[in-house]
Amino acid sequence: MSTLQTPRLADHHYSPKVNNLLLAVAALAAAIYVGLLPLIAFWPEIGLRVLWFAVIPLAPMVLLVAPNVWVSVCPISTFQTLGRRLGWKGGKRISPEVSGRLQTIGWIMMFLGIPTRHIWFNTIGWATAAVAIAITLLAVGVGLFYFSLSGWCVGACPIRPIEVLYGQFARERNRPEMCTTCDACVPSCIRIRPENADAEMTRLPLTQHLTYGFPGFVAAYFLLDLLYICNVEHVFFGTSTDAPAHLGIHALTVYGGMAAGFLVTFLLFHGLRKLGANKKTLILSAAVAAYCCYYLGVVPEIVEAWALASVWGWVMLAVPFTVLGAVLFVPGSTKRRFVPLKVHNS
Ligand code: SF4
Repeated sequence: MSTLQTPRLADHHYSPKVNNLLLAVAALAAAIYVGLLPLIAFWPEIGLRVLWFAVIPLAPMVLLVAPNVWVSVCPISTFQTLGRRLGWKGGKRISPEVSGRLQTIGWIMMFLGIPTRHIWFNTIGWATAAVAIAITLLAVGVGLFYFSLSGWCVGACPIRPIEVLYGQFARERNRPEMCTTCDACVPSCIRIRPENADAEMTRLPLTQHLTYGFPGFVAAYFLLDLLYICNVEHVFFGTSTDAPAHLGIHALTVYGGMAAGFLVTFLLFHGLRKLGANKKTLILSAAVAAYCCYYLGVVPEIVEAWALASVWGWVMLAVPFTVLGAVLFVPGSTKRRFVPLKVHNS
């Protein structure tokens, strides 16, 4: 392997000190993640609460401000790059076509996958742990077959579309820690310019339409729970005894309700587009709407999950909306350090 000092891409990266800090946080996050898996599998009443109602609700805020910090410390991306960090030099570069197809699969998996939380993964610990382990092993394997983060983290990961959507507002825009020496694993890498991520949403009519429907999809996810249409979480938390009678009807209710929510904002944004609204503005607006729906929905769930006094809901809501306000209205830009990029050529 030779290292070319080719200034093919000019962009910005963390200083060595920040890199080391991110590396330490990533190691800690990976250790916590591994420790959480048995908790989820064998003590789901604790593990699932911690996962869905403590850890995951932090993600949209981080993704909004600093998506590449999230990538730097995400346990799955850490596991994907583990082989390479330990000296593995094999693998290959993914073609632009395959990369694009994998990303589209990620979008579809996100829409198919989120409703399954209401069906299985919010309340069945062993199933959640099994899927998490399968995804982790898949990421490790993909990391051995393909360069850097390609294939999974910047490929088929179903969380990536959310990262791309919220990352348009990124205030912190350095490359992820594992990309300090970029090997150009994917073409048109969004990690290098998260603020230009709207290009991904407009790349295909499919991803553009999915973006328009996303806020309604998120709103419907929470309305199903908050309106007691989907009762599984309430039963799990002991606030209801009225369990859904039949899995098939429950699944139809969840997918049908979320599809209806999707349709509402899809038609709204599509109509605005037909009336001449700017495409980029619509995509940014869809991201803000989805973010607001998420926190308005998840905070009451957190209050219920941890049996908190309702006043804590208002306190918690203040945090994501302050972050959103700061991102939208506080002027300022990230200090960029433009440097020649080192490109590995295998
Ligand atoms: S292209 Fe470079 S910056 Fe983008 S994910 Fe691959 S290694 Fe990281």
